[in-house]
Amino acid sequence: MIRYDEPLIRPPSEADSLILQASLGCSHNGCAFCFTYRSKSFRPRPLHELLAEIDWAGENLPDTNKVFLADGDALCLPTQTLLAVLSAISTSLPGVRRVSSYAAPGNLLEKSLTELEELRSAGLSLLYLGLETGHDDVLKAINKGVTAEQILEGCDKAHRAGMKLFLTIVLGLAPPHLAMENARATAKLLDGISPRFAGALSLMHPDDGQRYASRIGDATFRPSTPQELLQECRELVAHINAGGMMFYTNHASNYLPLAGTLQKDKAKLLRALDEASLQAFARQTHCAPGSFSCSLVVAAAVMSVCSEKSLGKCPSAATRDALLQAFARHSRCAPGSFSTSWVIAGSGRRPSSKLEMSSIYLKD
Ligand code: SF4
Repeated sequence: MIRYDEPLIRPPSEADSLILQASLGCSHNGCAFCFTYRSKSFRPRPLHELLAEIDWAGENLPDTNKVFLADGDALCLPTQTLLAVLSAISTSLPGVRRVSSYAAPGNLLEKSLTELEELRSAGLSLLYLGLETGHDDVLKAINKGVTAEQILEGCDKAHRAGMKLFLTIVLGLAPPHLAMENARATAKLLDGISPRFAGALSLMHPDDGQRYASRIGDATFRPSTPQELLQECRELVAHINAGGMMFYTNHASNYLPLAGTLQKDKAKLLRALDEASLQAFARQTHCAPGSFSCSLVVAAAVMSVCSEKSLGKCPSAATRDALLQAFARHSRCAPGSFSTSWVIAGSGRRPSSKLEMSSIYLKD
């Protein structure tokens, strides 16, 4: 039998895998946004229990072709322990073609290149690693325990050992006014690492963000709106330049499930994010996308001439320009409407006065 100790989580792409809990909990267990293993003390599973479970799987689940090693950072286990587990998997489950595990950046720094090469040769071919962000200030605020430079160093070592990496990014970690800067820093780090896979999650708050605000020591923090999260994701995708990276937002926390290969599918991903952003904005302002009222809210917001009371809830200043760009690409407004005039004449440029706004309107 295989005994599971809850809570137990796995990546979406390991839904069909046999899950073995090589360790329980997380050896770091200190990231400000993560409460997954707070109810567990970190401990390795006794090796004899793991070997017995693999033996049982060999007899009862002989068709197993993928194995995932949980919990939070099974890679922190001593290399000899992991090699014993991988050897048992190879013997008892000969059909297994992929063994993967969660890993923390610190695990990669602690293991030597030779150790990682041994693990790769023994069958551990894919690591799911929480990168979260490439912004050093945000990494510090969330208590990740590593800098962007150290993440790059660890990931580079894993790549040199022949392992594939699935890196996880968390949207919404930075306060909204820093979200775009945070996204660009993360894109830069992803470019440096150039992983095979990257996936974004959205930070969810069981309260109005107070618990997270207190953990990062920022009383002014407020959670990003759905539209702001989509804009952050768009900024991230737009600034990734590395090629051949599979990008996903299929985690349940996200507002829009996406999958595509960068750079091949970049334009398609950006279009989908723009469309979803506009929809989210429309829900926020209670205006139908592309309608005159929606156009008016966007244009008025861009010009800072509306108030939340008079024209619905306007987007934050940090997202106005991005909103206008999205609107311009996706406008379905009737010819001659204010919004069409704006899109044609304004081209994303903010008018300097109401007089200029009038002249733009008259050009249509
Ligand atoms: S390393 Fe991963 S599992 Fe551990 S606390 Fe941080 S996010 Fe959670």
